[in-house]
Amino acid sequence: MMIDEFGRKIDYLRISVTDRCNFRCQYCMPENITFMPKNQLMDYTEISLLAERFIHHGIKKIRLTGGEPLVRRDIELLIKQLGKYVANGKLEELTLTTNGSLLEQHSAMLYDNGVRRINVSLDTLDSEKFKRITKRGDLNIVLNGIDAAKAAGLHIKINMVALKGQNEDEILDMANYCALHGFDLSLIETMPLGNDIEHRADNYIALNDFIAPLQSQYNIDPIAYKSSGPAHYFLVRDLNLKLGLITPLSQNFCDDCNRLRLTTDGKLFMCLGSDLHIDFKQAMEIGGTHKVDSLLQKALKLKPKRHYFEDQMSDNNLSVNRNMNVTGG
Ligand code: SAM
Ligand code: SF4
Repeated sequence: MMIDEFGRKIDYLRISVTDRCNFRCQYCMPENITFMPKNQLMDYTEISLLAERFIHHGIKKIRLTGGEPLVRRDIELLIKQLGKYVANGKLEELTLTTNGSLLEQHSAMLYDNGVRRINVSLDTLDSEKFKRITKRGDLNIVLNGIDAAKAAGLHIKINMVALKGQNEDEILDMANYCALHGFDLSLIETMPLGNDIEHRADNYIALNDFIAPLQSQYNIDPIAYKSSGPAHYFLVRDLNLKLGLITPLSQNFCDDCNRLRLTTDGKLFMCLGSDLHIDFKQAMEIGGTHKVDSLLQKALKLKPKRHYFEDQMSDNNLSVNRNMNVTGG
């Protein structure tokens, strides 16, 4: 079991399998982004080896993310490999966060390899707005992908980033869409990652304000349900909708953080809001699994108590030097 310096049990690993993406969501990365050179990325053998060591030390849940995880070539090979840990009971859960654009092609493969739940990012149900926010996404393709995932038996949670002045007017529509299809809905406050995002502070809205139209129409009660992530859950009773609120800025949840984050070039970030990291790819190349094991203990020691997104949102000099597509969510 892994316990950090603040007594937090660490059992959840997010692995970003690529920093590349077929979208350019305005809050995530700039349009002219430079991606990591391919020769610096871990191959699937390296990712699987590291995952195996992390599982050995107490990781129970793995989420694949990115960039867009499904754009990485032959991703099914990695999912197959990690799915074996679900099949043999060493891993409680293998999940994925995706923009949904490739779900038509991959949903059955995900289910066949032990994935049961996925998060799909969907900030709007308006196709023009979808294009504006994602820069190059096609809403219909994503909605068809979500339908395919549902048909394949995957449980779906929709992730909606709250964007002031952009999708504030859509919370009721999104709640109804999710309720109609039996999906959960998680709302996320936009976070200050990377320093080249336009209008970041202008787009921020606290979730309390974002859900006001929903609250004025429906009863929303806190529920005891807890997923492995940071959301606090509520039930929108009349819709029978499970609503998760992820409030990194307006209501800090770092005291409960159970996560480590591995990037596709093998760097382990102990906190989304800190640039501090350990290079596990290099460690494995030089010292093998023995070195990996000892560095994992160091990672627990170095995991910060909390992030400082509130300060970073209002002061660019404090920014985290990484866009969200590097570590994923
Ligand atoms: N491409 C996949 C997707 O969009 O679901 C996975 C990677 S994406 C970086 C993971 C999640 O992070 C998405 O739900 C996305 O909306 C969210 N995200 C990206 N940038 C963010 C930011 N600056 N603040 C809050 N959430 C962000
Ligand atoms: Fe791509 Fe996901 Fe970032 Fe959008 S949020 S640009 S889909 S990685």
